[in-house]
Amino acid sequence: MPRSDPLIIGKDGEPLNPPITYEKYEPWKVVVIDNTTDKRRTKKFFSYAEAKGKAKELEERLGDKARVGVVSRQIGYGPPHSRVSNQMILDYNDQGRYWCPYCRKFRYFQYLPYRDLKACEFCLMPEQDFHVIRCNPLLWSPDAYVREFGR
Ligand SMILES: [Zn+2]
Repeated sequence: MPRSDPLIIGKDGEPLNPPITYEKYEPWKVVVIDNTTDKRRTKKFFSYAEAKGKAKELEERLGDKARVGVVSRQIGYGPPHSRVSNQMILDYNDQGRYWCPYCRKFRYFQYLPYRDLKACEFCLMPEQDFHVIRCNPLLWSPDAYVREFGR
């Protein structure tokens, strides 16, 4: 279950306060998407360092044959406020890019006809997810938007 308190992430997308880990629940996964076939493979990890290490190794081995990323399975991370301003998020949102709290990056969200929803192009988290909405003002209700930005 995603937790609701926002966690802080550092320069490299590395969590500064590591998530609670459960004995049998790996909080991280490495996602590999083949660039020619679009086939996706995932592997789960208990520690961020382990996942990051595996992702680095795969990136070096596969080069531009595939896209590789570390995705949080359990917690949505807000954008790092040291580098990402509210205005920046609004600008990205206007370009159709949202902050994905699970990839911890700005991503395009694509329409998936077989699920009839828009989801992160990389980790497939739907746009209706609580933390995706929380991180992207464009997805807020008009009332919530006015409360925060006053327009
Ligand atoms: Zn994502």
